[in-house]
Amino acid sequence: MLQYNKNMRSCEVATISEDPSSSLASLQQGIDGLRGCAASGLSAEALTPLLRSAFALRNQLDSAITQLVGALDQQLPVADGDPDDPVISCAAWLRDELHMTGSAAWGQVRLARQLRDLPATAAAFAGGELSYQHTMAVVRTVDRVALGAGGSGRAQVAELMLLDEAREHNPHDLLMWGRHLRHRLDPAELADEEDEQHRRQWLNLNRTWNGGYDLEGHLDAEAGTTLKVALQGVLGPRRKDDERSPGQRRAAGLAEIARRCLDSGELPVRGGVRPHIIVTATLETLRGDPGSPAAELDWGFPISGDSLRRIACDADLTPILLSKEGNPLYVGRARRTASPRMRKALAQRDRHCVWDRCDRPPDWCQGHHRDLWAQGGPTDVDRLSLLCTPHHRMFHRGHRLRRLPDGRVEEVTPERPAMVHGPGIHGPPPAA
Ligand SMILES: [Zn+2]
Ligand SMILES: [Zn+2]
Repeated sequence: MLQYNKNMRSCEVATISEDPSSSLASLQQGIDGLRGCAASGLSAEALTPLLRSAFALRNQLDSAITQLVGALDQQLPVADGDPDDPVISCAAWLRDELHMTGSAAWGQVRLARQLRDLPATAAAFAGGELSYQHTMAVVRTVDRVALGAGGSGRAQVAELMLLDEAREHNPHDLLMWGRHLRHRLDPAELADEEDEQHRRQWLNLNRTWNGGYDLEGHLDAEAGTTLKVALQGVLGPRRKDDERSPGQRRAAGLAEIARRCLDSGELPVRGGVRPHIIVTATLETLRGDPGSPAAELDWGFPISGDSLRRIACDADLTPILLSKEGNPLYVGRARRTASPRMRKALAQRDRHCVWDRCDRPPDWCQGHHRDLWAQGGPTDVDRLSLLCTPHHRMFHRGHRLRRLPDGRVEEVTPERPAMVHGPGIHGPPPAA
């Protein structure tokens, strides 16, 4: 086994003097030996010091690999263009040949380059005292300090302080400690990085073939935290009977935040109206007549009558009468199914979602209308019930509650997509 001291140069010499294939063979032998130890039923007393040493050796191996990457990086000719461009040369080779992610490959190359200027960190890494992640945390922080006031002089001091702290912290905490240090040294430098991160924010909202949306993006610390806190607030603690995965809950929470934002009516008016979603449908679809066409979301994407009736339950409805050619003959006035006053009365009466054992508060709920306005059902508080978003969705898919003789309530699931009650509106549409 190679003996490293804390001088980088000497270990480089030691590595170069080895024959590559015999180096790998002795490494393989060591690995096989460790595997044998794992299967040999060692006691905890024997395993813990073994693991400690093995981790230190892994750090040394990571350091040696980083040096090898650095050597390759210096050998490969830099193609035309920016030598730091991660698309070309060593990082591209790591990415394409070793199937690393682009950012991991670039991180590896950059670390090899940066360590050349940070001998103390390189030595601690080579000696196995620092892990790859710790080394990354030190290098990242020192790099930033060098950009601030005091430049490389302060960076050297920061490097030694970080190496000291690395003994006490895990890599994440070390990075956080480093941020405090950076602020103490030069608050403007930390603020500059926040500006950079803010400018690097992005969000893609790509419509998929089934009308859904793929979300992808990056938020800075402040925006991401704002979203996280809002999601936590809107979701509340997870209920025992909530079988949704954390991802499903977050998706529902994001939609809920957006819905409340639209419902608040506080968004600025654009094109004469407050932002809202538009669903168009024929009277036949609204009534659920057999053979009726699908409704359309946002002027084009066909959605089911069930979804239409659920959305329309608690929405502004504008009756528009179309000619056979599809030209509007009459545009009625938008009416909300439950006026703000009625909603207040509803909240007072129901207090929470009326589904069995659901206690989601009124601002989580929609005013579900039990009568189909097209069949002349009135809109008054007596015919409205509060249902939270998930239970409102279930109701319109035909789920019902049934009280059993012993007083318990059971949920009745539909055998097929059921025809259920539709929305309410103040009065029927005008006659043609
Ligand atoms: Zn409803
Ligand atoms: Zn509910």
